[in-house]
Amino acid sequence: MSAQRSLDLAPEFASRVLHDVSMAKHTSWHVGGPADIFFTPRDALDLASFLRQLPAEVAPLWIGLGSNLLVRDGGIRGAVISTHGALGSLERLSANRIQAEAGVPCGRIARQCVKWGLGPAEFLAGIPGTLGGALAMNAGAWGGETWRHVIEVDVLDRRGARHTRTPADYRIGYRTVQGPDDEWFIRARLEFERAPGVKTQVIRDLLDKRKQTQPIGEWSCGSVFTNPPGAHAAQLIESAGLKGLRIGDASVSDKHANFIINHGHALAADIEALIEQVRSTVARVHGIDLHTEVRIVGVPA
Ligand SMILES: Cc1cc2nc3c(=O)[nH]c(=O)nc-3n(C[C@H](O)[C@H](O)[C@H](O)COP(=O)(O)OP(=O)(O)OC[C@H]3O[C@@H](n4cnc5c(N)ncnc54)[C@H](O)[C@@H]3O)c2cc1C
Repeated sequence: MSAQRSLDLAPEFASRVLHDVSMAKHTSWHVGGPADIFFTPRDALDLASFLRQLPAEVAPLWIGLGSNLLVRDGGIRGAVISTHGALGSLERLSANRIQAEAGVPCGRIARQCVKWGLGPAEFLAGIPGTLGGALAMNAGAWGGETWRHVIEVDVLDRRGARHTRTPADYRIGYRTVQGPDDEWFIRARLEFERAPGVKTQVIRDLLDKRKQTQPIGEWSCGSVFTNPPGAHAAQLIESAGLKGLRIGDASVSDKHANFIINHGHALAADIEALIEQVRSTVARVHGIDLHTEVRIVGVPA
């Protein structure tokens, strides 16, 4: 039985959700099978109502820009909630503080902070995802990290109730954030310093520099593995001789060994097999276990 029939949605949502939406269109790797239900809320209140009526047995998958997601070829059984293009407000609250909703792209926050004379927020331009994804991942670049700037977050729980939380409610580490179960970010208040001298050219220069070492523009999810303590995943993968290793239409980038590229027709299964092969080879050669930074979700074909 398809989820369309098995999910008993309230009439106001039954007519607004999309069915069998290809997740390849919503991920930067451009792979992934269909989501049974795909919902883009009008705003946070609408999203709370959606969660309230969503059958209790359905675990929603929240996504931003899908820039850190490997969705398997069988897709997502259940409901995907997309914040991008929905929760999009960004405002300045005071001299040093801003408030942004979860669907705002990090690059927009970086550029707006420069215009407001606030920093250091330039690092956010290196993260091609939404603020919600950056909060979930504690995304960081060029020495900056999302949670260093968080004052408070507003979250929704599985029943659609809103809570305000502070960093003390989370265990925050390098690319990990552990907080109360079954809560998702809808908004955050962030603090920066006054940085009136910073120009948007700084962001362009950082991005240009990154293009020299990373395969920007190709279909990837950025770094596949986190760096193990005291080491660089890319260096371990490269020295294990894995640059260029190919399965199907996916390969380990020749430019940056911690990137896996979809050359156009890769399956999620090709990418996942490559991840496993890289992981087992690095373990054999270096005796180090790599852990994925990318989140692998969904069911195999
Ligand atoms: C070319 C490239 C370069 C990259 N460079 C970097 C980098 O320098 N540093 C870095 O840290 N990352 C980098 N990334 C990875 C990625 O951009 C980040 O992890 C980003 O934070 C993911 O945001 P997203 O909106 O795309 O999240 P998604 O990929 O959509 O989701 C990622 C995870 O966050 C969860 N999530 C999404 N929204 C919410 C929400 N509102 N509430 C709770 N959970 C949520 C999802 O369920 C999923 O588990 C790069 C990716 C690419 C493609």
